[in-house]
Amino acid sequence: MSKVVLVTGGSRGIGRATAVLAARRGWSVAVGYAGNAAAAEETVAAVEAAGGRAIALRGDVAVEADVLALFDGAEAALGPLTGVVVNAGIVAPASRLADMDLARLRRMFDVNVLGAYLCAREAARRLTAGGSIVFVSSVAAVLGAANEYVDYAGSKGAVDTLTRGLARELGPAGVRVNAVRPGFIETEIHASGGQPDRAQRLGATTPLGRAGTAEEVADAIVWLLGDGASYTTGALIDIAGGR
Ligand code: NAP
Repeated sequence: MSKVVLVTGGSRGIGRATAVLAARRGWSVAVGYAGNAAAAEETVAAVEAAGGRAIALRGDVAVEADVLALFDGAEAALGPLTGVVVNAGIVAPASRLADMDLARLRRMFDVNVLGAYLCAREAARRLTAGGSIVFVSSVAAVLGAANEYVDYAGSKGAVDTLTRGLARELGPAGVRVNAVRPGFIETEIHASGGQPDRAQRLGATTPLGRAGTAEEVADAIVWLLGDGASYTTGALIDIAGGR
């Protein structure tokens, strides 16, 4: 069955790969983004080239009005949503907790936790039986990211807990809720944290001996969105090379 999927943070990285793979299934994709309009339009073109309908929608997931407009805009352009990928997220430069200021902590939890909750709430209000929500968490939720990102790790712990709770809440309505927990994946998020080579450098230390690709994470996300995962809910799937 054809699907209509909203991907937050769909302009780049894991979100972009998910949008393109979804389009290869013939699904329509709303591409959410924060400010990089050129990247969002490029992703829309890639989705269309892959066979799907697409629209780019700008907004900050930490702002309630933006989230409402994002969901309204997606449904106005593409029809009722059948899937939502809660993917938009940020890191900040590596630091010990003792050195993190309030502005950094507030922004981390605003985007990664409040943003995830606001998007999940809209998804819960709109999805009907057969719908699927996929969160993009991180193995950092389990490992803690000491000396680098304990703020980020805690924000993803909240996403894991939301996944478990919302899966139980929405299961009776026939809406599935799952998360993927990527490890070191080659995207631009590492440059935004001041370490462009981080995934390659640390990926080499994992059991599989390399970083993962955005496409390898997208494969799992698209499976969870699809009808092949019809009996999977409340699952947290590590995609981290055995880390
Ligand atoms: P990325 O390449 O940096 O892309 C981030 C995406 O999120 C972009 O589309 C960006 O939009 C959007 N975004 C950022 N802040 C936003 C906001 N406040 N409101 C709306 N959109 C926002 O990141 P990525 O590596 O693909 O990461 C995607 C998700 O995977 C994140 O939740 C991240 O925590 C998680 N993850 C990544 C890794 C990894 O190694 N890469 C590992 C574990 C988990 P613009 O293009 O407009 O800036």
